Amino acid sequence: MSNSPHRRFNPLTGEWVLVSPHRAKRPWLGQVEESPLENLPKYDPTCYLCPRNERAGGLSNPDYSSTFVFDNDFSALLPDEVPAPASDHPLLASVSERGLCRVVCFSPRHDLTLPELDHASIENIINTWTEQTIELSAKDYIHYVQVFENKGAMMGCSNPHPHSQVWASEHIPNEPAKELQHQKAYFHEHGHALLADYLVEEHKRKERILFINEHFTALIPYWAVWPFEILLVAHRSAAYLADLTSSEVSALADILKRVTTCYDNLFEISFPYSMGFHQAPFDSQPHPEWVLHAHFYPPLLRSATVRKFMVGYEMLAMPQRDITPESAADRLRSLSDLHYRHP
Ligand SMILES: [Zn+2]
Ligand SMILES: [Zn+2]
Repeated sequence: MSNSPHRRFNPLTGEWVLVSPHRAKRPWLGQVEESPLENLPKYDPTCYLCPRNERAGGLSNPDYSSTFVFDNDFSALLPDEVPAPASDHPLLASVSERGLCRVVCFSPRHDLTLPELDHASIENIINTWTEQTIELSAKDYIHYVQVFENKGAMMGCSNPHPHSQVWASEHIPNEPAKELQHQKAYFHEHGHALLADYLVEEHKRKERILFINEHFTALIPYWAVWPFEILLVAHRSAAYLADLTSSEVSALADILKRVTTCYDNLFEISFPYSMGFHQAPFDSQPHPEWVLHAHFYPPLLRSATVRKFMVGYEMLAMPQRDITPESAADRLRSLSDLHYRHP
């Protein structure tokens, strides 16, 4: 079965992916592209995220020394209460959406990405995400908090200064809403959390596991769509970042550094991706079905410049991949020891 076309089911979303491993049987064509190393300065006087520099609207950044958080100057969501747009037909439905969008700079350094920061700095970033989640979810109209990082020009990231975002919204967005529905249904049927049971199975099989530490596992999910997609799962049924103990935060920092290091080492470039944490919604209900996890969705396929496009069949029918999750895991597993730029 593993070498013939087949579909794999994503139990978190209820969606399928088409896997065509026979197409990937040809010899590995991977090559390290002659892409110039991005030699970014430690400080860029034209960067609106660097300390002391001016942002849009005339505000100036403080002379910050660790993480720095501010309200996005071009926020996609606004906190003001406004009536829903008028609709007089059920096929033309809309509701108003309130929320807040914040930017979290990882450090004052313009040139240091996640895998290049030290352990304490990564812990500090996680603690900042947690504080922001707590602060934003305390607002009575906020029901979901999405923490994410969009890295690299290929992903549409407009500024290379390493940063992430926290968007808090009145409604639960599509992806966590699907995951809530499927995790709840699984918990109701089996009495266990879906991702906890999934981890047990992956730990037995080992073929898709990348790294395991005391509190987290990084793996290529069985149902991965992107060639080098990674799922990072907490070992305990913690539903929120705020549930993590200090030793779990330390373990999360360790595994984030390993995952992002092996990504950079794969093609010896600063590896682009979108990543984000899925916490349970803030709806005043207990969430025993939810296990805190993060998804990494990188676009690259074979080299620093060959990316996967979600077009054609994938836009119109369903996602498809050639290289299997198992062979992607084989390639990534060995690459986490030393960062290629800091051997
Ligand atoms: Zn900067
Ligand atoms: Zn998720």
